[in-house]
Amino acid sequence: MRERALDMPRDRSIGTCAPNPAVDPAIDRLLEAMPKAELHLHLDGSLRIGTALELARSRGVDAPTTWRGMYQALVAPMPCRDQAELLRAFDLPIALMQDAEALERITAELVESKAAEGVRYVEIRWGPLLHVARGMSLAEGIEAVMHGAEVAAARTNTVVRLICTALRSHDPDGNVRLAETASRFRARGLTGWDLAGDEAAFPDPSLHARSFAAARAGGLRITAHAGEWGGAAQIRRALQVDPERIAHGPGAADDPALMAELIARGVCLDLCPTSNAQSGSVASISAHPVAWLHRAGVPVTLSTDDTTVSDISLTDEYGRALRAIGMTLAELWAIDRFALDVAFADEATLAPLRVEFDAWAAGIPELAPAAG
Ligand SMILES: [Zn+2]
Repeated sequence: MRERALDMPRDRSIGTCAPNPAVDPAIDRLLEAMPKAELHLHLDGSLRIGTALELARSRGVDAPTTWRGMYQALVAPMPCRDQAELLRAFDLPIALMQDAEALERITAELVESKAAEGVRYVEIRWGPLLHVARGMSLAEGIEAVMHGAEVAAARTNTVVRLICTALRSHDPDGNVRLAETASRFRARGLTGWDLAGDEAAFPDPSLHARSFAAARAGGLRITAHAGEWGGAAQIRRALQVDPERIAHGPGAADDPALMAELIARGVCLDLCPTSNAQSGSVASISAHPVAWLHRAGVPVTLSTDDTTVSDISLTDEYGRALRAIGMTLAELWAIDRFALDVAFADEATLAPLRVEFDAWAAGIPELAPAAG
């Protein structure tokens, strides 16, 4: 496996990564119909504009009062100057998400939006410690998100799992308590633990090693954000906390030895090309290395990161992977299907989804080579 990555040509233009803007529009309908799995999606980056307007009005939060103004406040620039500017797009959503009713509603609406675009399995993550500024307890906040997810999952027949995100900037002891509280919700579908936030200011994930240990002891599965700033070196740092998956990490493509290590350890990169271009961790969407990494054998999945901050659906992101990045439909399908192999859910949950995904693909001639 190691040699496979090291033998890849360093010039990423070699191979078949050429952008293909002339993809048949019929393919968009196919992408909409494709059953999809999304593993990297933030609740606070995915508010509906209309909901944000209503919450700002009803909660007395200082915010734009027009649709256009709210859109401009919630959608981050493309590109941002850096990750820190991208993160500022979360300030207003977090101010609007300080009570149980708001959290429950926003979660339910996100599940419904995902169901409407054919996402059959979704992992939604959020940082519960960001939502206690007005006195809500950690457990109340988690319960609200859990309940919103449960109600919408039942209504839409979508499978939802939740990931608790700790912030790099938060006190390590507080993150240990967060891990202990989150673990109590595992049986109801809070199955993952994550670390996110400003990498330039807080580059060392091992500061939070005790919370990773507490999450693991509580039965949560481990992921961590890395490489939105700092490239391959930050991805190596994230490996110190032994994650099953890494959120982002496109910079691995610059480091063949790191690619080999990801392959050998089976660590998956949950990539988000549009968001990665916004944060400046790649030069542009078309320069994103998702195709390169996939063809080299590095485990990858494809997600939006933030539906609203990046103003994109997963179907849009798949379309960009075809048109701007030059992936093939069969490659996209393989990546989508692979997400079910690294999802933070048990086999009893995933087995029927695999059957459903495979049954759909069996009826699509274009996917016959990938379906075997
Ligand atoms: Zn993320």
